[in-house]
Amino acid sequence: MSESKRFVRPGEEVGTEEEFEAGTGTLNEDGRILASIPGTLGGQERRLDVIGHPALTPFAKGTWVVGRIENIAEPVALAVVGAEELAGQRAPKSSAYVVLHASYIKRGYVKKVRDEYRIGDIIRARIVELKNGEFHISTDDPHAGCLIAFCPACREPMEKRPAGLQCPACERRDNRKLADDYKVVPLTRE
Ligand SMILES: [Zn+2]
Repeated sequence: MSESKRFVRPGEEVGTEEEFEAGTGTLNEDGRILASIPGTLGGQERRLDVIGHPALTPFAKGTWVVGRIENIAEPVALAVVGAEELAGQRAPKSSAYVVLHASYIKRGYVKKVRDEYRIGDIIRARIVELKNGEFHISTDDPHAGCLIAFCPACREPMEKRPAGLQCPACERRDNRKLADDYKVVPLTRE
């Protein structure tokens, strides 16, 4: 690898497996090597690593966090979260990228993140692990899961109805792993 310092974001393609080996902080998705954490691209020889930058505020294991699903690169999602007491702030100072693996979504087998979450969802989760500089979260708890889901067609917040989630505007239905207190709250949009 060259000495140039390239800053990459989660989900960004950094190379292909034909050229490189996927190292720390990366994922191999069907031959494409994607950054799985924000950081600086590096590596040795043919190996690509993403060197993460320390989170502004480290989260202790067990901390409840709230945030938004920013990217999905199966079988993981990347979310930006802050400690739950800071929820509602547009850009909490202590926010950090965290990793959610499909197997940490809920009890039972979940093959893909997209079976339960979509980009843009607001979720509540718990920090379960700090590994290789990445925070891992879990939503395997009745109180964890989606807090606000948006209609994939018209982006309206979806309503929880007896038959499941439904868009009040276009009636489209969708599925999520919901938090026990899921409700539609008006978002402040400027
Ligand atoms: Zn809709």
